[in-house]
Amino acid sequence: MSPQCPNSDLFSQLRSEFPIFGTHPELVYLDSAATAQKPRCVLDAERRFYEEHNANVHRGSYALAIAATDAFENARSSIAGLLGVASDELIFTRGCTEGINLVAHSWGDSLAAGDEILVSTLEHHANIVPWQLLAQRRGVVIRPIPLNAAGQIDLPAYQALLGPRTRLVAITQAANATGTLPPLAEMIAAAHAAGALVLVDGAQGVVHRADGPAALAADFYAFSGHKVYGPTGIGVLYARRELLANLPPWQGGGEMIERVSFAGSSFAPAPQRFEAGTPPIAQAIGLATAMRWLAALDAADLHAHETGLQHRLETGLLDLPGVQVLAAATPRAPITALHFAGAHAYDVAHCLDARQIAVRVGQHCAHPLLAHFGVSSSLRVSLAAYNTTDDIDRFLVALGEALELLA
Ligand code: PMP
Repeated sequence: MSPQCPNSDLFSQLRSEFPIFGTHPELVYLDSAATAQKPRCVLDAERRFYEEHNANVHRGSYALAIAATDAFENARSSIAGLLGVASDELIFTRGCTEGINLVAHSWGDSLAAGDEILVSTLEHHANIVPWQLLAQRRGVVIRPIPLNAAGQIDLPAYQALLGPRTRLVAITQAANATGTLPPLAEMIAAAHAAGALVLVDGAQGVVHRADGPAALAADFYAFSGHKVYGPTGIGVLYARRELLANLPPWQGGGEMIERVSFAGSSFAPAPQRFEAGTPPIAQAIGLATAMRWLAALDAADLHAHETGLQHRLETGLLDLPGVQVLAAATPRAPITALHFAGAHAYDVAHCLDARQIAVRVGQHCAHPLLAHFGVSSSLRVSLAAYNTTDDIDRFLVALGEALELLA
């Protein structure tokens, strides 16, 4: 780990691109894994769309509608280019949750009773519950992939679970509750060797410039716009073209059809077949802007900045008695989950909030992962490009005082 960012000036300037920190100069925002703040260029891109190009897409024959359609489809190709995939492999969704539900319905409904889906214990509920609902519909069997004592995927146990009935492995790129980075390359290769497909939940990956679906060789890859400095209400599902070609629609309506009659309807090719109704147009344009903004940051500098801050945080925590970092020994994204021996995480978060320090507390939509550690709640610090050493230092001082007060 590199504790010092080689370009710290650049990152402290970058903070001024985020209007929220102008509105709340004292805010220490340490909850970017829940949602990231938005740079001005993203807000401007959405505003500009509404001011200059607003019309519905794929429908109108007039110039404004054509301009809107172009802007929307350019957003798709821009994002596809950044992910290294083809535009027609990229479906706009409402978010990561909807992308996973789309796969669980459209692909999942072709499964037979007794087919198996392996789901890791690191997952957010968004990558557990859709598979459980599918299991109820189709008699599919969900097999949890266990963790070892450190909180990392138990690879031998995973390999033993892969078998002739395994149809899909559902795995996160980074656990939202602990930041744990599973050994994705080995896991994906093993799944493919067993003839199974892999869905990667990239919700906590894209924002840290982790490998995209092409580099991972994932069959499905889903993420949310709002966690990558983009707008809410927009997400992306990537699926390999050969898979998409054979998948039925999961929602019906306008935009997704070829012809409709009461004798029956035929459907548009992908990706439109999966985008029923008016899509989130301005949000797609905002997301493409956010992802270009992120891509313009040097990936190595960003990594050094974020892991440098995490190192400063975790070194500082060593001076505070009774603080445990969950899954500390596993390779992690810049997410640190804390459990306190002598205080309730909610009480600590309350004290921090009084100092304008925003952290997430609770179960982080990851009940099985917290159960693995035998804790009912944790306090999560998650970092992004705009965080500074001052944020970390203020957090450490306030945490020390909160723990003393609550002891
Ligand atoms: N997966 C992971 C790993 C997440 O962190 C989240 C959001 N916390 C989701 C899925 C769901 O994302 P959304 O609520 O934006 O659909």
